[in-house]
Amino acid sequence: MIYKRSSELFKLAKLSIPGGVNSPVRAFGAVGGSPIFVKKAKGAYLYDEDDNKFIDYISSWGPMILGHAFDPVLNSISQTSRKGISFGIPTALETEFAELIISSIPNIDKIRFVNSGTEACMSAVRLARGYTNRDKIIKFSGCYHGHSDSFLIQAGSGAITFGSPNSPGVTQGTATDTLISDYNDFESVKVQFKNHPNKIAAIIIEPVAGNMGCVPPEPGFLEALRKICDENQSLLIFDEVMTGFRLSLGGAQEALGVNADIVTYGKVIGGGLPVGAFASSNEIMKKLAPEGPVYQAGTLSGNPLAMSAGFTTIKSLTEDLSIYNRLEEKTKFLHEEMEKCLKKRKISYQINRFGSMISLHFTDSKVYDFKSSTKGDNIFFKKYFHGMLSEGIYLPPSAFESYFLNDALTFEDINYTINAFDKVLKSL
Ligand SMILES: *Cc1c(COP(=O)(O)O)cnc(C)c1O
Repeated sequence: MIYKRSSELFKLAKLSIPGGVNSPVRAFGAVGGSPIFVKKAKGAYLYDEDDNKFIDYISSWGPMILGHAFDPVLNSISQTSRKGISFGIPTALETEFAELIISSIPNIDKIRFVNSGTEACMSAVRLARGYTNRDKIIKFSGCYHGHSDSFLIQAGSGAITFGSPNSPGVTQGTATDTLISDYNDFESVKVQFKNHPNKIAAIIIEPVAGNMGCVPPEPGFLEALRKICDENQSLLIFDEVMTGFRLSLGGAQEALGVNADIVTYGKVIGGGLPVGAFASSNEIMKKLAPEGPVYQAGTLSGNPLAMSAGFTTIKSLTEDLSIYNRLEEKTKFLHEEMEKCLKKRKISYQINRFGSMISLHFTDSKVYDFKSSTKGDNIFFKKYFHGMLSEGIYLPPSAFESYFLNDALTFEDINYTINAFDKVLKSL
C-alpha cells in the first residue's frame, strides 16, 4: 500500500500544528510511521488521500455507530444549517433533544449540553463538589475522563500511550484533590474513604473502561462503589462518554443495572459533531447556574447543527434497538474468529470484550486494571497494527484503545478482516 500523499500531508501539518495533529493518538506515535490522512468515508469504510480503502474499526472513536456519512444525519445537518448555524439564543431543538435523552434513561431528570466529553466530565466534577461542599474526588488509574487538570493523573488513553499519565502543567494543588484507586480493586477505594473522611465529593469511573483497552468491571465492583458512596454521602459519577448509547440505549447503567448520581456523555451523543452532556436528578441539577450557584456555560453549547446530528443519531437508535444485538453479534463473531487464529498460531493474547467494545492485548496474563493492561508486547503490537493497516484494516493506533464497531460493518467485512488477521499473524 502506498501512503505518499498522506506522508507529504503529515510533513506539512507538522510545520503548523504541534505534532501535525489536533489530538495526540492520531500521530501514530505509539506505532511508528506516518498517519493516513482521510479524504472521505462512507458506511464502514475510510478512504485516504492516496485512495486506499480501509475497513474502519474506530468509528471516529465511537460516534459513528450508524456508519459514516449516514444519510438521515447528513440530511438533518443540511436542513438545519439552512436556517442559520449558531445563535447563542435558545432553540426548540435543544429541548426536543433533552426530552429524547431523558425518556431513554430512567434515572435522569435534567441534562445540560456541552461541546465535548472533557467538558462534560469537568463540569460533572464541579457540580459534585458544589453539591457536596467537598473537594476530593476518586479516580481510577488508567481511566480517562478527558484532558482537564483534575483527570491528568494516572490517565489512560493517549496519556498512557505517550508515557505521560501525569501531565506537566497540572498543579500540585489540583493533583492533591484527585485520589487514585485501582480499577476492580474495592479495597483501594475503601482506604481512600478511611483516610479522607467527609472529604470525598465523588467517585468518577468509566463503568466499562475503554481507555486502557477494554476492561469490564468485575461482578459486584460497581455495586460496591454505589454502596460506599451512599454510606458516605458522596456522589457516584459514571463517565459514559464511551459507553453511553453504545452498550445499550441506556448505556452501562442499563447494561449493568447500576445507577450513578451524575452521568456524562460524549461521542455517540453528537453523532459525529462536537457534543457532550452531563445529566442527573432534579435535586442535583438545580445547583447549576442559572438556577443555582455552580457555574457552567458555553457560547456554542446546544449548537443547532450539533443538536440535529445528535438528535437524529439517538432517534435512529431508539427506533431500531435491534442495532445493539447486531453490534454485539458482529463483535462476538470477530472475537471468536480472532481467538481461533491466535490459538492456532500459539500467540499469547487476552481479548476483553463487552458488547461492541473489544480489545486485544498480546499477553498471557488477565487484563483487569491499569497495571495488567500495560503487560502487552508493544513491539509485537506495532507490527500487528501496520500489518493490518497494509491489509486495509484501520485499527486504533495504540494498544490502550478499544475497537468500536459500527452498524454499517457487514459479516463479509469481518470475514475479510479475519483473513487479513490470520495472514498478518502468520507473517509476524
Ligand atoms: C473520549 C473520552 C472522554 C473525552 O471526550 P472528548 O470529547 O475527547 O473530550 C472522556 N471520557 C471517556 C470515557 C472517553 O472515552
